[in-house]
Amino acid sequence: MAQPLARDVIEVLAVQNGVCIRPVPLRRIDTLTGANTVLNVPCGTTMEAKCPSCAKRNRQLRMAQCREGWHLDHEPVNTPDEPDDYQRYLVELRADAQAWRDQAEGAGTDTADLDAAIADLDAEINDAGMRGNVLGRPSPKRSRSTRRRQDAPDLPKRKMTPSTLGRTFTSSNGRTFRPSMFVTLTLPSYGRVNAGVPVDPSTYDYARAARDALHFSKLVDRFVQNLRRVAGFDVQYFAAVEPQKRLAPHLHMAIRGHMPRAEIRQIVAATYHQVWWPPTDVIRFEGDRLPVWSDEAGYLDPETGEVLPTWDEALDQLGQDNDAEPLHVVRFGDQVDVQGVLAGTTDADTCIQYLSKYLTKSIGDALDPDNLAQRAHAERFANALRFEPCSPTCPNWLRYGVQPKQAKAGMAPGRCKGKAHKPDHLGYAGRRVLVSRKWSNKTLTEHKHDRRTWVLEALGLPDEPTDPHRYTWRPVKPGDPDLEPIGVRLLRDIAERQRWRNHMNQLQAEADGQDFSATEGRAA
Ligand SMILES: [Zn+2]
Ligand SMILES: [Zn+2]
Repeated sequence: MAQPLARDVIEVLAVQNGVCIRPVPLRRIDTLTGANTVLNVPCGTTMEAKCPSCAKRNRQLRMAQCREGWHLDHEPVNTPDEPDDYQRYLVELRADAQAWRDQAEGAGTDTADLDAAIADLDAEINDAGMRGNVLGRPSPKRSRSTRRRQDAPDLPKRKMTPSTLGRTFTSSNGRTFRPSMFVTLTLPSYGRVNAGVPVDPSTYDYARAARDALHFSKLVDRFVQNLRRVAGFDVQYFAAVEPQKRLAPHLHMAIRGHMPRAEIRQIVAATYHQVWWPPTDVIRFEGDRLPVWSDEAGYLDPETGEVLPTWDEALDQLGQDNDAEPLHVVRFGDQVDVQGVLAGTTDADTCIQYLSKYLTKSIGDALDPDNLAQRAHAERFANALRFEPCSPTCPNWLRYGVQPKQAKAGMAPGRCKGKAHKPDHLGYAGRRVLVSRKWSNKTLTEHKHDRRTWVLEALGLPDEPTDPHRYTWRPVKPGDPDLEPIGVRLLRDIAERQRWRNHMNQLQAEADGQDFSATEGRAA
C-alpha cells in the first residue's frame, strides 16, 4: 500500500524533466499530404490552468522577455507576423465558441460559461501574439458623458519625442550608462493590519478594498498615460500584478528609461481613476424580491411592472446630472518605491526575479490555508465583492435597479460568474503580466520561437520554415481511438525530452573539450 500510484510517479518524473503533465491533445491535419496526427500541446499554451512544468517554463520566458526589453538600446520595430498554426487554431476555436454561444442563446440556455470561455480565448489569442480583437474593432464606445468627466490630472507636460528609449549618460572615461527604473506601487490603507490580517475587521474598509481591486487595472492604465505625458517619450514597461499579504493587488513595474524620483512620486500622487457607473447606494431588489424577465422589455419591477432602466439609459441619466458623483475613485497609496537600475547589474537580475516571483500563482494563492485569521479575512473580502458590480454586464446591477448591459433571462444578483468575484481573484480579474507593445519588440510566442531556434541550432537540426497554411488543427474528443492514455503520452514526452537533453549535454561536453584543448594548446 505504501507504493505510490504509477501515474503519480510518471507525473513526478514528467515535472523533473520539464514535461507538461496536462497536455491538450490536438489533431493536426496536413493539408498537403492529408496525414493527420494527434499531438500533445502543453497546457501552458492553451487555457488558464497551468501545470508546474508549464508554469515554470512560462516564468522563464517572461524573465527572458523582461530582461531583453528593459535596457534596450535600439528602437524596436513592430511588424505584425504571419499567424502560426496555433494562432490559427485559436481563431477557429474562437469562431466555433461564438457559434455554440449563439446556439445556446437561441435555445434560451445560459451562456455565462461560454461567454467566460470566449473572454478567455480572446485573451489567449492576444497572448499568442495577435494584436487586437478577433471580431475586428469593437463597436465605438459610448463615452460622450463619461469620458468628459475623467478630469486631467495636474501634471507637467513635456514635448513628446517619438523615442521609446531612455536617456543615457557617459562617464569621464567614456563609458555609457543606460539607467532604467523599478517601481512598486500599492493601494491605500483600509485599516491597520498585522501580518496581513486587519487588527479590527469591523472598521477595515472592505467595500473600498473590493472596489479598488476591481478597478486596479484602470488605475494602472492611467498611471502609464500620465507617465508618458510627463516623460515626453513613449515609455515602455514590463509589469506584474501581485497579491500583498492583506490580499490587495499591487504592482511591480520595470520601466525602460530614467526619470527623477520626485517626478514619479508626483505622477503617482496625481493619478486616479473615476468610475462613472450608476449609483449603488440604494438596494432596490434583494432576497426573494427580484426583478422579473420579460422577453419584450427586459427586466421589470416584480410589483409595479415598471421596466428598469437599461445600462445605456442609466449612463445617460448619469451624464445629464451635473451634480452626479463617480461611483468610485481609485488612487494609489502613499507607499511608492522607486529604484534606479543599471543594465547588466545584479540589481537588474534581482528585480527580474522579483517581477516573476508570483507569476505562477493566483492572487488567492497568497493565502496560507492554515492561517485561520487570514482565511476569515479572505472570506470577508469575498463577501464584500459578492454584490459589487464587477463590470457593466454584471447581474449585480439588478440589485440596484439597473438592467445589466446585454441583459438576458436568468440573471440574479450575487450569482455573477465573472472572475473578479472568485476567491482566486479577489476582485482583480485583469492580466497578471502587463507588457507594453514596444517593450522587447517580441511577443511571448516570438520569445518561444527564439528558444526553439536556439535549441535546434545547438542540435544541428534544420528549423524548417513551415508554410503557415499547411496545417489545420482540430480538438480531439475524449474517447477518440487515436488518443492514447495520458500515462503513455507522458512517458513518450519524457523519453523525448531525455533524448534531447542527452544530445545537448553531449554537444556541451564536446564544446567544453574543444575549449579545454585550446587552452592547453595555448599554455603549451
Ligand atoms: Zn502543462
Ligand atoms: Zn460580476
